[in-house]
Amino acid sequence: MSPIWRSLEVTVTDESEKTMPFVLHAVPCLADNYAYLIHDPASGRTAVVDVPDAAPVQQALTAQGWTLHDILITHHHNDHIDGVQDLRAATGAAVWGARKDSHRLPPLDHALAEGDTVTIGKEQGRVLDVSGHTIGHIAFHFPDSRLAFTADSLMALGCGRLFEGTPEQMWSSLTKLMALPDDTVICSGHDYIKGNASFALSVDGDNPDLQARIAQCKMDAEDGKPMAVVPLALERQTNPFLRAADPRMKAKVGLPGASDAEVFAHLRALKDKF
Ligand SMILES: [Zn+2]
Repeated sequence: MSPIWRSLEVTVTDESEKTMPFVLHAVPCLADNYAYLIHDPASGRTAVVDVPDAAPVQQALTAQGWTLHDILITHHHNDHIDGVQDLRAATGAAVWGARKDSHRLPPLDHALAEGDTVTIGKEQGRVLDVSGHTIGHIAFHFPDSRLAFTADSLMALGCGRLFEGTPEQMWSSLTKLMALPDDTVICSGHDYIKGNASFALSVDGDNPDLQARIAQCKMDAEDGKPMAVVPLALERQTNPFLRAADPRMKAKVGLPGASDAEVFAHLRALKDKF
């Protein structure tokens, strides 16, 4: 299976080319953020994951003729929630977010914790606690559509900076996400691909999968494809942070006997100074 990109619409297909239940739209917001619209054609239900800015999300809804029912929030940073109140006021959509973060999120209609489910149309999404970038950061995994919304935890060729959590917490979160099925498509919160690619090459430059991916990224960027949407299997092969458990990566950073979390912490510290 490979994702097929069409403008900002991202259609995920299987080998028999049947369209998966959700239609996914990546909506660019602010300088480098994405909001994601997911639409279930069977029921007509539509949700958005994070609202950096209400206006582009409303424009995308209008262009598609979709009515918004649900707003899913990943974490409390302003560039993920600033448009929530305006969008709720305009659409009456229900707001879902982490109970742990409820003191610093817009008012929640549904407070969530790890293991809870979010129902969009006929599909159920599972909530994962992916603390590290912040405490209370959650991800949403929709197994039938093979989509995982990871925001600032696992990102394309990178991971979020550790503003609140420890390296051990982030490594635990990334390990959870790495355990999702191979054909999961990761939808992350920002396009940081240029900086992330430069860093990945600095620590893992002789990785042929990484070299091939960066060459492909350059072509995809010219085609206007959303750089924050990427197959998990490709992340496992090329994201330096996910490779912290690989003995070859441990050797490359001079920590052959260190634990996976120690190697992750070292890589994160290198990136912070990069
Ligand atoms: Zn953030």
